[in-house]
Amino acid sequence: MPIASMPAGNSPVVVIGGGPAGMTAALFALRAGVEVLLLEKNEKLGKKLYITGKGRCNVTNATTGENFLQNVPRNPRFLFSALHFLDSGGLRMLLHDLGCPTVVERGQRVFPTSQKASDVTKALIHGLAGAEIRLNTAVQGLEMAEDRCTGVLLTDGQRVQAGAVIVATGGLSYAVTGSTGDGYRFAVQSGHRLTARHPSLVPIETEDLWARPLQGLTLKNVCLDAFRGKKRLFSEQGELLFTHFGISGPLVLSLSSSLAGLDVQPVQAFIDLKPAVPAPELDKRLSDELSRNGRRQLKSLLPGYLPGKLAEVFPEACPVNFQKTCSQVTAAERTQVIATMKALPIRLKAFRSFNEAVITRGGVDLRDVNPGTMASRLSRGLYFAGEVLDVDGLTGGFNLQIAFSTGALAGHSAANYRSRSV
Ligand SMILES: Cc1cc2nc3c(=O)[nH]c(=O)nc-3n(C[C@H](O)[C@H](O)[C@H](O)COP(=O)(O)OP(=O)(O)OC[C@H]3O[C@@H](n4cnc5c(N)ncnc54)[C@H](O)[C@@H]3O)c2cc1C
Repeated sequence: MPIASMPAGNSPVVVIGGGPAGMTAALFALRAGVEVLLLEKNEKLGKKLYITGKGRCNVTNATTGENFLQNVPRNPRFLFSALHFLDSGGLRMLLHDLGCPTVVERGQRVFPTSQKASDVTKALIHGLAGAEIRLNTAVQGLEMAEDRCTGVLLTDGQRVQAGAVIVATGGLSYAVTGSTGDGYRFAVQSGHRLTARHPSLVPIETEDLWARPLQGLTLKNVCLDAFRGKKRLFSEQGELLFTHFGISGPLVLSLSSSLAGLDVQPVQAFIDLKPAVPAPELDKRLSDELSRNGRRQLKSLLPGYLPGKLAEVFPEACPVNFQKTCSQVTAAERTQVIATMKALPIRLKAFRSFNEAVITRGGVDLRDVNPGTMASRLSRGLYFAGEVLDVDGLTGGFNLQIAFSTGALAGHSAANYRSRSV
């Protein structure tokens, strides 16, 4: 008998959303010995998971404890119980046992040994043998009886009774993968508060026309700083990519996480193009070269300091006449050149949209969710897991671990609730 038509006493734990959080929730509920029905509106499970880590799936980060939490800028403490229940070591063991061994790479990032995101989904599906999975099945809303969630209503009008319901519908980013924010609607419908949602880990548009020809240029080992007034909001070293609209790459995604929800226009950003060389040392080097090359144009020295394309456009970003010969350059101009190399100003305009964001900042207000179980504090039998919650991490495998950990705890807790209420 399909679970959807079971009598109420046998009602399954219903999981809405077959992403990493939902699949793991279903898996742990199943392992706790209850019937499970997983509803996914796409034609397959884990559609976003397939594109994670550029198809390789940075499934977690081997960092644990306090170090892990330092990579969770938003509400890290909410994760104590979930990470205790399933941390990165536990996740790697689980995947290994399901046929997907993993390997640790640079920065403690963990990937499937096969380097294929699809193998993570295959492993989870393997673990779900025994659960009923319904694809192409979209949930329209929750069925509530006073303060209790009793089931779900499907978009085709069908009602499905549930012993407990887990909302694992993801956020708003990359909507083509199915993450269209439905879970926020379900949360509000059942009386939960939401925090404001913003794209995060997202590229940033800039105003600087001089930088447009740099499209495609990657700067490795530069330092990006951002200030509002005198307050430093961000300072990190790493890789930055120029695009046709502005800037992207790991440094910029991290910057966007620090600024998520803020108006970026008043934020002043600077790139230190030579973070390893102190300004006085650079100044001495330039001063020596100016003396040795009196007749050459100042501009002709730039390729010795900057990658080709950047050396070409740098004069547009630095208020010095680069047509001058080296012998004509004043001390003040030399200082200005060095100052611009150490702090190239970038005028931020706007974040790119959710469609280009790795994650959504904000979501179901954590004041309404019990961190020890992932249960709603307002509605019995209702649980939340994954990106739908107002918690998010940096790049490096942290967001998937958050989805897996909260999913596992929600599945386990929902199964216990369902067993108690039979
Ligand atoms: C391009 C890209 C690369 C990324 N790479 C990484 C990475 O390498 N490492 C990392 O840690 N994180 C990465 N992330 C982030 C990570 O993928 C997400 O944080 C994670 O997928 C969230 O999992 P989730 O299960 O909560 O939500 P999702 O993965 O969004 O899954 C939600 C599921 O719910 C389904 N659904 C939604 N509404 C309904 C409904 N009404 N009825 C039925 N089903 C519904 C959706 O179709 C979807 O399948 C990446 C994100 C993107 C966009």
